[in-house]
Amino acid sequence: MNIHEYQAKDILKKYGVRTQEGIVADTPEAAVAAARQVNALTGSTWFVIKAQIHAGGRGKGGGVKLAKNYDEVREISKNIIGMQLITPQTGAEGKKVNKVLIAQDVYYPGESDIKEFYMSILLDRASGQNVIIASTEGGMDIEEVAEHHPEKIIKEFIDTRVGLRDFQARKLAFALGLEGNAFKEMVTFIKSLYMAYLDTDASMFEINPVLKTSDNKILAVDGKVNIDDNALFRHPDLAALRDITEEDPLEVEASQNELNYVKLDGNVGCMVNGAGLAMATMDIIKLSGGEPANFLDVGGGANAQTVEAGFRIILKDPNVKAILINIFGGIVRCDRVANGVVEAYKKIGDINIPIIVRLQGTNAAEGAKIIDESGLKVVSAVVLKDAAEKIKQVLAK
Ligand code: GDP
Ligand code: MN
Repeated sequence: MNIHEYQAKDILKKYGVRTQEGIVADTPEAAVAAARQVNALTGSTWFVIKAQIHAGGRGKGGGVKLAKNYDEVREISKNIIGMQLITPQTGAEGKKVNKVLIAQDVYYPGESDIKEFYMSILLDRASGQNVIIASTEGGMDIEEVAEHHPEKIIKEFIDTRVGLRDFQARKLAFALGLEGNAFKEMVTFIKSLYMAYLDTDASMFEINPVLKTSDNKILAVDGKVNIDDNALFRHPDLAALRDITEEDPLEVEASQNELNYVKLDGNVGCMVNGAGLAMATMDIIKLSGGEPANFLDVGGGANAQTVEAGFRIILKDPNVKAILINIFGGIVRCDRVANGVVEAYKKIGDINIPIIVRLQGTNAAEGAKIIDESGLKVVSAVVLKDAAEKIKQVLAK
């Protein structure tokens, strides 16, 4: 689960990470009130208006703007709130901005002694360790730095049995070329950031830029955080930060029905029980000349309701030209799934794309019989190769 920058900064603050102060607003008037509050809090008279969307590169897309007085705060907020913001990470259609963060200007005008760094912590699956990635080339596209100046990417691996050790934090701060107070602040910054990362069960904390101010303070100017979905059950406070307006509506609907669904770009929708079988089914679709429109695992205990929910979700995708249902009846019996399919089909009505159902396992023959006798535009298949052949025929039409 991704969260917004302002939410990430709230978390960071709880762990003692110094951040650029800011208050979120959803109307131009609220933005001005927020700016006044930020002024009372920090003394800053210049503000940065930052679009809150779940995508980076906002600066490049015109979603981060400097305001030098309250009128500009109102004017800029008016332009940004409600806009469709396109950044290198949103895709061509962009993302609608519902909120802006009114932040203090921390690049104190006229000062040249500031420096932007890059820092992130993530799980390195290959080594089974956490890794802190840092660079002196902050503020810009880190992928570009990694490609053209790999020597400017510093990595420090953390043995999770021991945790982050002091010398590692010092080593990173030193490698970033810091000294004096800025060095000390960076060491504290890194240690606090690591605690925040661990405690929230995050899979990524990315702060770009981390700023060294002209008065040698270190603070987080941006915050991109991904929390492991599988750990959300033990963080109700974090789960509450979810903003479903930022997510694919079909994926939201699927998660509400406890279905594992990932939307893809193809033309054959598929509904399968078990992730492994779902992957194999997607392969079969490709081998038959189609492209999977989605990954959908309805789980081991599929029933009429889950089948119906899955059906509805797949049918909402306008690219879908055929649906392949591939269920192995282990715990769930094939005749029950077949009844579920028939029921769901009748309930939804007006389905005018071919559906191929392949049921195998417990009561497979009974299941096929129910499908064949339903009188609906549903084709049953027992052998997977047979199902693949039927997709081919359907796509050829
Ligand atoms: P991103 O583009 O989505 O990564 O958004 P960021 O939060 O990183 O902001 C983009 C850029 O805005 C930063 O790299 C800075 O150059 C600039 N910026 C952020 N905060 C301030 C600020 O307080 N003052 C000024 N002048 N620029 C800022
Ligand atoms: Mn950034």
